Amino acid sequence: MTSQHILIFDFDGVIIDGIWEYWISSTKAYWKIIGKENHLDPFNSNIPKDFRILRPWVKSGWEMVLLTAELLQADSFLKASGASIFSKHYERNCLEALNKWGWSPEQLQAALDDVRREAIRKDRKRWLTSHQAFPLVAERIKQFKNESIEFGVLTTKSAEFTLELLDHLNLHPKLLYGHEAGDKASMLLKISKETPIAGFIEDRRKTLETVLNTPGLKSIPCYLANWGYLKPLDNKNLPSGIQLLEKRKFLSPLANWS
Ligand SMILES: [Mg+2]
Repeated sequence: MTSQHILIFDFDGVIIDGIWEYWISSTKAYWKIIGKENHLDPFNSNIPKDFRILRPWVKSGWEMVLLTAELLQADSFLKASGASIFSKHYERNCLEALNKWGWSPEQLQAALDDVRREAIRKDRKRWLTSHQAFPLVAERIKQFKNESIEFGVLTTKSAEFTLELLDHLNLHPKLLYGHEAGDKASMLLKISKETPIAGFIEDRRKTLETVLNTPGLKSIPCYLANWGYLKPLDNKNLPSGIQLLEKRKFLSPLANWS
């Protein structure tokens, strides 16, 4: 008997909306790095519009800390130019901002992870509820077992925090890999050697395009989750290997998706 097929899910932007928690944790991580803590409670401040606008460009957690630093500094390039100009050369602008601050991605990621560990230790419930589950997604994931489909999670978050949140949603994936494990294309290759992959659901189009162009992964059905963090034109003119996944289709049996 062949092993059961597995559906692989991205986490933030597909299963949960973590932007509010990202804003809070990134603000605290920024203060931690510059040595000025607690001069504003991020729970009582609104998420800057530019932070939301730039979310679809973000690949890794540390970028959130960098964007937060830029947004909290009055004379930064991001503050002066706005998110739309900044996003036009997003990677280059992030690199320049990193150099300006004299920071490394590892340092920012470590500060973010420290802040999260502290938040969980101090008030686990508050930390968990600062994330919002996308409506009906967790419920639908639980039903895949009725279609003999397992599910797994591939995320650029740290696995330890993702596991806390999945537990809270009563979701228990067959496998879970965080950013520590490696990039998503490599992880899909590894998974596909052991288990046939029924599909990969992700809200970052660039990641899906990378998967599509990776030898050995071309046969994996790729789905762009329409309810996630999409750039304005992400759902237009998709290449033939990537299908737009609307909530209605997602709620229907997997056999009807293509
Ligand atoms: Mg995502």
